[in-house]
Amino acid sequence: MDLLLEKLEEHHTEIAFSFLKELGRIYGDMDQEYHRTAEKYGFECRGCENNCCLTRFYHHTVLEYAFLMEGFHALDLNQKEKIRGRARDVILTYENADALYTPIRVMCPLNEDGLCLLYEKRPMICRLHGLPHELKKATGQKTLGPGCEAFDLCCKDQSYLPFDRTPFYKQMAGLEQRIRQALGYSQKIKLTIADMVASSKI
Ligand code: SF4
Repeated sequence: MDLLLEKLEEHHTEIAFSFLKELGRIYGDMDQEYHRTAEKYGFECRGCENNCCLTRFYHHTVLEYAFLMEGFHALDLNQKEKIRGRARDVILTYENADALYTPIRVMCPLNEDGLCLLYEKRPMICRLHGLPHELKKATGQKTLGPGCEAFDLCCKDQSYLPFDRTPFYKQMAGLEQRIRQALGYSQKIKLTIADMVASSKI
């Protein structure tokens, strides 16, 4: 993690003006396709008890980390301190629960009063979660994934409308490969939003 921070600081300008701009374009296409499909179903996320911001999602790319942290660094100091405090609490709560093998769900430190403080900078899974979808393997084999609980309540009786995550995963993978090459960074990443935010030196 320290090495990644170092690399990103070293190449900050290059990353900000090329890779992250390209990521923003991919995210834009993703959001458009998601909203187009959701609209056809008549599905609109208005929050639910099983809030996906309570899920311990892991993120595995330099891209998502750098994009989110770009947004985080632009917040004012008080806000950053507040979020970092929540992130440290989240990490500790999970550590304690893990030690007791107790499955728990904890709210993402970026969620405030039900809203994502870095909505425009949120990672891929936060953008794609909710709709039934498909993924195609190189062999052409297709796997289908379900929608979320809120989706089921509204629309589960409707026929599946194609929402293919494959092109987005492929574009992300290609760009990730390129940014890692540019940075000379090859270590695996497995970070929650709380891990990312807590790692910030402000
Ligand atoms: S980054 Fe935003 S959308 Fe994603 S889990 Fe956190 S609060 Fe929710």
